[in-house]
Amino acid sequence: MKPRDLSDHVAYQAGRGIEEVARELGRDPSTFVKLASNENAHGPSPAAVDAIEDAAGSVSSYPKAAHADLTAAVADRWAVADDQIWLANGGDGAIDYLSRATLEPGDDVLVPAPGFAYYGMSARFHHGDVTEYALAREDDFSQDAETVLEAYDGERIVYLTSPHNPSGSTIDLEAVAEIADRTDEETLVVVDEAYGEFADVDSAVALISGRDGFDARDDVAVLRTFSKAYGLAGLRLGYAIVPHAWAEAYARVNTPFAASELACRAGLAAIEDDKHVERTVATVAEARATMREEIDALVWPSDGNFVLVDVGEATPVAEAMQERGVIVRDCTSFGLPACIRITCGTPSETDRAVETLNEVLEDRGLDADGGTTGVNGA
Ligand SMILES: *Cc1c(COP(=O)(O)O)cnc(C)c1O
Repeated sequence: MKPRDLSDHVAYQAGRGIEEVARELGRDPSTFVKLASNENAHGPSPAAVDAIEDAAGSVSSYPKAAHADLTAAVADRWAVADDQIWLANGGDGAIDYLSRATLEPGDDVLVPAPGFAYYGMSARFHHGDVTEYALAREDDFSQDAETVLEAYDGERIVYLTSPHNPSGSTIDLEAVAEIADRTDEETLVVVDEAYGEFADVDSAVALISGRDGFDARDDVAVLRTFSKAYGLAGLRLGYAIVPHAWAEAYARVNTPFAASELACRAGLAAIEDDKHVERTVATVAEARATMREEIDALVWPSDGNFVLVDVGEATPVAEAMQERGVIVRDCTSFGLPACIRITCGTPSETDRAVETLNEVLEDRGLDADGGTTGVNGA
């Protein structure tokens, strides 16, 4: 026998890892820097590392108390009720819970293109289908209600990503409210704020709670993760914040104990370590500014911990950078074959990425037209 027909399913393409690339090129891994997966340049919060060490001896028990403790801490942070917090195995796990809670076979989800691949993957796992709205490169991937609503055709879930991966653009809360207003009663608007900590904009949780002049809604959910600003990508911890009316569904859709004891204990320590997040956010802001100023190509403004750069041809540029020890994300798989995405590193990593990219661009400019630099009209 064989698995079911998976021909509609696409494999997730993760950013490339140092070990993998170093082995392929036969080089010493320590000479590489990886700026391909939007990980935290400062690593995990030291408090989280301590918590993981302390909890190591108790992993023989199921994470019941730890789950309850973290849920309460996260709920407190957002001023919502505990049962509005759906902890999960990464933000991706929270996307699965929302799929499980909403999709009947044949239901559609509406997702941004370019955009985060897992929205569509999760929908397909749950026998749903995927339609897209386009974020236009000519408009700098700007997001507004009209762009989404023009493409909307009764889908069960509408995904908004703010800040958006891979462009870094955001959508304002009035636009989110308008989308929720003008879509069907049965449509859930999910605002993915995986990079929310890096943006100077308010969270869409205000629309769920009815704060800051917004009415409380039962058709918006927010997604958050510990993978980015908190530096816990390897632990797999994220959550959805859902409307009050949805609270009960969690018990029926969650994979028991999907957020592990170590993840919950580390998350609890990390959420209290404001200093680590502040330092991370400050480093990111600096790195974004450096890359915007110093890269000799078009760099879009970004509210995430990465920037999108138009390099003309992504694959050869990403390969040439990798050859020089800097691993970045080739955005061809996002449908942007001219672009690479560079994660904000420490100041020295960011400087190295800028220098390396500028060298590569200059070399390619020389090859292409025998003398002038500044390819791609940068
Ligand atoms: C990283 C990311 C997530 C969540 O990732 P997890 O590691 O599963 O928490 C969700 N959405 C977007 C757009 C992301 O880039």
